[in-house]
Amino acid sequence: MITTSIDLAKQVLCNNGIIAIPTETVYGLAGNAFNESAVEKIFALKKRPHFNPLIVHIKSADSIMDVASAIPEAALLLATKFWPGPLTLLLNKKSNIPDLVTAGKPTVAVRMPNHPLTLSLLEQLDFPLAAPSANPFGSISPTSAAHVYNYFQEDLEVVLDGGECNNGVESTIIGFENNLPVLYRLGAISVEEVEAVVGKVLIHSKNDEDPAAPGMLSRHYSPNTNTYLTDDVAEFIKQYPNKKIGLLLFKDAIEDNASFHKEVLSAEGDMAEAAKNLYAALHRLDKLNLDIIIAERLPDEGLGKTINDRLQRAVEK
Ligand code: AMP
Ligand code: MG
Repeated sequence: MITTSIDLAKQVLCNNGIIAIPTETVYGLAGNAFNESAVEKIFALKKRPHFNPLIVHIKSADSIMDVASAIPEAALLLATKFWPGPLTLLLNKKSNIPDLVTAGKPTVAVRMPNHPLTLSLLEQLDFPLAAPSANPFGSISPTSAAHVYNYFQEDLEVVLDGGECNNGVESTIIGFENNLPVLYRLGAISVEEVEAVVGKVLIHSKNDEDPAAPGMLSRHYSPNTNTYLTDDVAEFIKQYPNKKIGLLLFKDAIEDNASFHKEVLSAEGDMAEAAKNLYAALHRLDKLNLDIIIAERLPDEGLGKTINDRLQRAVEK
């Protein structure tokens, strides 16, 4: 059921059950990060392969010591600047974190989320919450309680309703090699913002065989409808004269026309607003039984990079 009751949420979690939680990025499917049976339920419900590790959500920057054994200077700087917020750090794990959470890796992904309901829930628990996004593996991430409910219905006892997610795309993931920051996944904090704090960030090389951060798998975040990505929507659309078309536009650059459904991510051309609206717009278009969705590429800077990354994965076959 969809509820705002923290007490109910707490009850399920303390019995090693799992619930959906709101965060500022996307909704998460959460369970006690210290409890293997709770974590296993997350993998099972999501149909998530076990090689794909989960993010551990903590209640405060201080509780980082409960899950991580060593914290590079750059990680401290980033946590101080961006927590609570959409930045995930990969740190050497403590042994109380089950291998299931980290897919056997020596590092644990950790962040302090910035959502009042989830933070007050975490405050009342004596364990952190392991939580990947609350969608079946590979499908579009949920940015509202209704998205989550549509995916799992009564298979989830509790969907904690915290409204629409403010950032709307997943967290930026930063790891460390020889104590230097490495980008594992583009996300809600731009690379430019990270670099303003810690200097040049290396990019982790993508490899589907060894998906160190499977948010980096080529195909991910995918609608069921065939989706294409282009710089020039007006030109691209001419190739499909007799199709039922959905347009996913950055700005409102194309006039309404009965031959297509249009979603505009930000009439003002604001990238943060576009990120916030991205998944909800994809969910809506995907429900319309269209032949194709044509998405417009954003300028390749700031959050535009993150949105383009998600759109690129949505179009992979
Ligand atoms: P999701 O919340 O569904 O985006 O999943 C969490 C993301 O964090 C996945 O893409 C994971 O692969 C990534 N992640 C979690 N732990 C690690 C880790 N130890 N090393 C690399 N990536 C990780
Ligand atoms: Mg996900």
